[in-house]
Amino acid sequence: MNPKAHWDHIQGIPFFRPLYENPENRFIFHSSRRTRSLQRVMEEQMASPYFPVDTSEMKAQRSFYDIEEGKTQLDDHSTMRAMWLNHPQGCMGFRLETSNGVLVYATDNEPGDPIFDQNVRKLAEGADVLIYDSQYLPEEYAAKRRGWGHSHWREAVNIVLESGAKELILFHHDPDHDDVMIDKLVQEARNYFPRVRAAAEGMELKV
Ligand SMILES: [Zn+2]
Repeated sequence: MNPKAHWDHIQGIPFFRPLYENPENRFIFHSSRRTRSLQRVMEEQMASPYFPVDTSEMKAQRSFYDIEEGKTQLDDHSTMRAMWLNHPQGCMGFRLETSNGVLVYATDNEPGDPIFDQNVRKLAEGADVLIYDSQYLPEEYAAKRRGWGHSHWREAVNIVLESGAKELILFHHDPDHDDVMIDKLVQEARNYFPRVRAAAEGMELKV
């Protein structure tokens, strides 16, 4: 599931080894083609002169599915619901429901638009885990980041409290925020809601 095709979301794809070596590997991509199909995005980001090899070097099986807002049946036990979020050129949030639990991935969303504010709360309703955009500090957002399409930890807390989600993972950290700052904002968020963690490289979530 790819929320959108901005560089911060696609730059790892050409370097992702499991796509290249083993023909038994199988990848299923879901994305909206409202701006451009994900398959085309991947081909274009690797076209000459940007990268030495193209997607024909990828031996893994790849299938691409177009999705729009609504529910998609993934298999007998799991569904995925997608809704649009508030981001320049669009972005989708996802609610993955399985017999084991509900995980919501909603990033690249700016608060303040009544429709999208409602969308993200609908997605998060009663979820076991909500992974949410908290790129900026609330004060950074208010002072100079309006219109950039991102959120902050205080809004993440609002969403989790209003939607009844059970655990919050703060995600999409600003590249200018160091670990000390991230730890600090997690502590602040815990004053409002105890089950908050910051996403980190290598983190695994079991639902
Ligand atoms: Zn992003």
